[in-house]
Amino acid sequence: MVVCFSALAGAAEKLPHIVILATGGTIAGSAAANTQTTGYKAGALGIDTLINAVPELKTLATISGEQVANIGSENMTSDVLLTLSHRVNALLARDDVDGVVITHGTDTLDESPYFLQLTVKSDKPVVFVAAMRPATAISADGPMNLYGGVKVAADKNARGRGVMVVLNDRIGSARFISKTNASTLDTFKAPEEGYLGTIVGDRVYFNNRLDKIHTTRSVFDITGVKTLPRVDIIYGYQDDPEYMYDAAIAHDVKGIVYAGMGAGSVSKRSDAGIRKALNQGIVVVRSTRTGSGVVPPDASQPGLVSDSLNPAKSRILLMLALSKTHNADVIQDYFHSY
Ligand code: GLU
Repeated sequence: MVVCFSALAGAAEKLPHIVILATGGTIAGSAAANTQTTGYKAGALGIDTLINAVPELKTLATISGEQVANIGSENMTSDVLLTLSHRVNALLARDDVDGVVITHGTDTLDESPYFLQLTVKSDKPVVFVAAMRPATAISADGPMNLYGGVKVAADKNARGRGVMVVLNDRIGSARFISKTNASTLDTFKAPEEGYLGTIVGDRVYFNNRLDKIHTTRSVFDITGVKTLPRVDIIYGYQDDPEYMYDAAIAHDVKGIVYAGMGAGSVSKRSDAGIRKALNQGIVVVRSTRTGSGVVPPDASQPGLVSDSLNPAKSRILLMLALSKTHNADVIQDYFHSY
């Protein structure tokens, strides 16, 4: 579905054209009561309803909208990610499109923006927005987050910053931002790296630029790519069993991300499982379950290291890396550079 909303005649030529792609989530969520902030249906409302709820968008940009999916982001798959990234690349290649805003669920908002950060070949702004309260709630945060996202995408300083995530007046980088609280509005944070900027009143304040390879400089090209190699995540904990690795091997995974304790430390059981996987030619990357910090190289431990990528983002990078190469040194370099 394509919906077009034009700004007032005369002003339209001066405004940027921003395309909003809707994928579902709480921002499109609907509940029976306006006090209900749990147990509602995510991905219930369509793109036209989201846009019509914020008529002020027309003051920022000429807006058009498309429905790519309407799902809770726990049901996002690499197939949908490929569809989304292909569509964003096609839109941004057009001279008449200045930026893209994507509405999405918060639960896997660690992952989708990072996938686009690695696969979109444009320095035009790509901004994800989401919400923690359904659209039907008192003080729903979705409309202001959508307004903020379009404001950022339309800003003249937004180009070349990689894919951004806008919620709660903060602008996060897809590389670092993650969901840190299951229910509060200020959940999206990057504890070590902070935000790229903030929105206050009518103005977008950019403070930082990302020092990681992304978008136009990324080596990952999904042109013609229809599927991605299978990569699973195995969590490290006291008593963690070796049979998780046996299961992954039996399912013919091409990569494993180990969500490790501390700085990626492995138990004797995980050590045995990881070495068994490595012997089968599976690439294993050790990350951390702590929520922030770096897993540094350590020759005494098996596998590659994630640098500061959390397990969910590590999985995204490893899928793309394995679609290009199985060379461990090259893949390790990706983890330090992207
Ligand atoms: N689980 C749903 C999703 O991720 C709703 C959560 C949300 O969007 O905040 O899309």
